Amino acid sequence: MAAPLLSLRNFSVKFPMRSGSYFRRSSFYALRELSLDIHKKETLCLIGESGSGKTTLIWAILGLLPFYKGKIIFNNRIIRKSNDPIHQDLKAVSQMVFQDTLLSLNPLLTLGRSIEEPLRARGLGKKERAEIVKRVAIQTGLSSELLQRRPSSVSFGQSQRACIARALSTNPEILFLDEPLTALDAVIQGKIARLLLRIRNERSLTCLIITHDLAFVKNIGTMVAVMYLGRIVEKAPVEFFFNKPCHPYSLALLSSVLKPGVWQGEKIILKGEIPSPQHPPSGCVFHPRCHLKLPVCEKIEPGMKRLSPRHEVYCHLF
Ligand code: SF4
Repeated sequence: MAAPLLSLRNFSVKFPMRSGSYFRRSSFYALRELSLDIHKKETLCLIGESGSGKTTLIWAILGLLPFYKGKIIFNNRIIRKSNDPIHQDLKAVSQMVFQDTLLSLNPLLTLGRSIEEPLRARGLGKKERAEIVKRVAIQTGLSSELLQRRPSSVSFGQSQRACIARALSTNPEILFLDEPLTALDAVIQGKIARLLLRIRNERSLTCLIITHDLAFVKNIGTMVAVMYLGRIVEKAPVEFFFNKPCHPYSLALLSSVLKPGVWQGEKIILKGEIPSPQHPPSGCVFHPRCHLKLPVCEKIEPGMKRLSPRHEVYCHLF
């Protein structure tokens, strides 16, 4: 298999913790010792409850947050700190689609002008910009009449299409999407999901998608990484994940899906809330909520067990 396009090794992010005293500053891990590989044309879906660190991970990969430890390997080149020049190269071939489409579009600009903005920033001429806007508008199903409107006079689905068109305008290699379907109703979700699938295939894009929608993961993903409290607890190809999930947290997430055809296995009710990363439980951080907990789980954090070349799990049961 070819080398991954993007890898993380022992990637950690720390946030400062309020301790009440200026002289006793401390910090906590928002992400801890993550390792991931994303190959060209792969779609890696990050899943897990809110607070598991998914958005922090994308922000740190894109240099919007500094990372504390570990490295990013992009195209076989190593990035050891956030302001490394190689990080600029990674950012130049990446684009992001945010969850809140209305906040990510300038309310004063028409959709067409918003799509054009990254092209202006790159110094492209008027004619070239107009051609690209027209092309991505056709790809994302935006009419020329819609391109003249401002975000306040279009639907959520239309503004999400504009955000996707804007992200595509610079012809990115890697597309990061943070919950692209969450703010949409069920009908529009289906349309945007089909649009993303088509564009991903047409453009041979490499995608990293944060989502809570496991039916969407099943349709669009090639790999899944399950996150819990800033750690990855299971990584697997999509077909393995839906046929033979291993980590008790993965089982609980799958069994919470209401849509038919996604999961037929045992129903597991996940108790309690995800703990604060400022005070992670000892041993396996999932142990207070785990229905399969062993005595060792409270004391020792499980290491990685490789079940097949691309299926890894962090659990004492394996
Ligand atoms: Fe549950 Fe123990 Fe596995 Fe953690 S290590 S998921 S507590 S069985």
